[in-house]
Amino acid sequence: MTTRTPDPKHDLVQVAATLRKRGLLFRGAHANLSLRDEERLLITRGGSVADLQEDDLAWLPLSTEGIQDDFDANHREIVDMHTRLYRHRSDLRAIIHCHPPHSTAFAVAHKPIPAVYEPMLRQGIHTDVPVVAWAPRGSAASVNGILEAFNNSDVVAVLLANHGVLVAGKTPAEALDRLTALEEAAELVLHAHALGGIVALPEAAYREVAERMQRFRMAS
Ligand SMILES: [Zn+2]
Repeated sequence: MTTRTPDPKHDLVQVAATLRKRGLLFRGAHANLSLRDEERLLITRGGSVADLQEDDLAWLPLSTEGIQDDFDANHREIVDMHTRLYRHRSDLRAIIHCHPPHSTAFAVAHKPIPAVYEPMLRQGIHTDVPVVAWAPRGSAASVNGILEAFNNSDVVAVLLANHGVLVAGKTPAEALDRLTALEEAAELVLHAHALGGIVALPEAAYREVAERMQRFRMAS
């Protein structure tokens, strides 16, 4: 499968704008986004995506590790988080890291987000979204923790303890939709606790949802 699109820079700029429209950024609008194209990645060079422009994106070889001189200081720290995850999971072609307020509340509380909301399942998130232990953002310890969680091929999103979230997909649009479902779930689970608590989906729910989606896609 290829993720090559006619205009990858335009795609990521649109994703950044949609993050804001959907309320997926916290007040500082901190985020970093990337997409993989063969043996390179396109990644944001600055810390805020409040008004992301195509000039704020840079192509890097996938083999890149460590400091990039033309990135702002805040952002040099996170390059390894993207390059190493792409090298670890070849099925992933897009990564979004940001601080959506409800999901990040779970990260601060060190509580996984339970897969109890059907739209999560429709986005391929069918196991509880795990918490990766805290270490300074982008450090080897933090990235190692992320890679360990992604050793489970069912994992496509993690909470970064005391920090935020990281979501991946085959395309930027898929990562964005997964992030949206995750943030909706986090908000709804918090509300559900005020109503007496969450109720789990049936064991077979993910299989049933996947089969139903497949049937309708085949028919369309
Ligand atoms: Zn962050």
